[in-house]
Amino acid sequence: MAKYEVIIIGGGPAGLTAGLYASRAGLKSLLVERGIFGGQIINATLVENYPGFPEGISGGELGALMHRQAVKYGIEVVTGEVTNVTPGHHYSISTTEGIFEASAIIIAAGSEYRKLGVEGEERLSGHGVSYCATCDGFLFRDREVAVVGGGDTAITDALELSRHVKKVYVIHRRDQLRAGQVLQQRAFAEPKLEFIWSTVVEEVGGDKVLEELRLRNAKTGQHSILKVAGVFVAVGLMPNSHSFFNVVDLDDLGYIIADEAMATSAPGIFTAGDIRRNSPRQVSAAVGDGATAAMSAFKYIQDQRD
Ligand code: NAP
Repeated sequence: MAKYEVIIIGGGPAGLTAGLYASRAGLKSLLVERGIFGGQIINATLVENYPGFPEGISGGELGALMHRQAVKYGIEVVTGEVTNVTPGHHYSISTTEGIFEASAIIIAAGSEYRKLGVEGEERLSGHGVSYCATCDGFLFRDREVAVVGGGDTAITDALELSRHVKKVYVIHRRDQLRAGQVLQQRAFAEPKLEFIWSTVVEEVGGDKVLEELRLRNAKTGQHSILKVAGVFVAVGLMPNSHSFFNVVDLDDLGYIIADEAMATSAPGIFTAGDIRRNSPRQVSAAVGDGATAAMSAFKYIQDQRD
């Protein structure tokens, strides 16, 4: 069984920063990532609020640069999914690529898109139902589409879609957006956006591809049908913490509880990024978490040696 001082789970900005700091501190480190390095940021066309890039930078490019920088300092990487973590004298980390052992772990596994959980959503996923406007928006050129949600992601998606499509309906369950003020101002000034307030999607309909949404007004209970070619679901995120519930304390929503040193309830297990309770879910915050977690892991390993 391959042994490491620290194993980092997740290759987004938090995990890659933790990897950079851990490898530069001379720790024998492994980073396990199940998909593409860079995490969710790779879906962003332009990241405008990450310091150091006044003109913005594409999420894909930023993720690739972070990966390159971490690998430059010697971190080992493996592409695979962590299935279980077992405590013991050292932690044993089971993955689809084998079992690894580590003195300390940094969990930076991020989060994934929350689903609406309505009839037809899963069946038509990839056939008109999408969770990524940046990835799929161009497929709906000059068509009418809907975005569900009222947060930063929904409004960013709606604005981005307005560059390709004929019209974007923004369907929100309340009568006020959650998105930040700057995004709200941009959205209300965009003539291609039409807001459908206090409304929920009850069903996603269509034979082989999406044809219509069945809506219900949350105030009046009235039902209606909206004909659209695409629907972009942007109703938030869920933490990827299902493999860790037996080793660290989670809050009611499944986020990992940690202190300001990124220490979890388990000795030697630290966390970073979107999976952490109360994370502001920004790249710059994830990067800060990753650095803190790696420094805490370094101190933990040193204390173990003494
Ligand atoms: P979010 O802030 O949690 O917003 C989710 C939205 O979906 C809310 O408007 C919520 O309604 C709605 N919603 C949740 N469950 C729903 C359901 N089952 N049916 C219908 N609507 C539902 O998630 P997010 O927009 O993905 O943002 C996640 C984080 O990333 C946030 O911290 C955000 O600030 C950050 N972010 C930042 C930027 C940026 O440009 N700075 C861009 C994207 C994301 P309610 O409002 O009623 O709760």
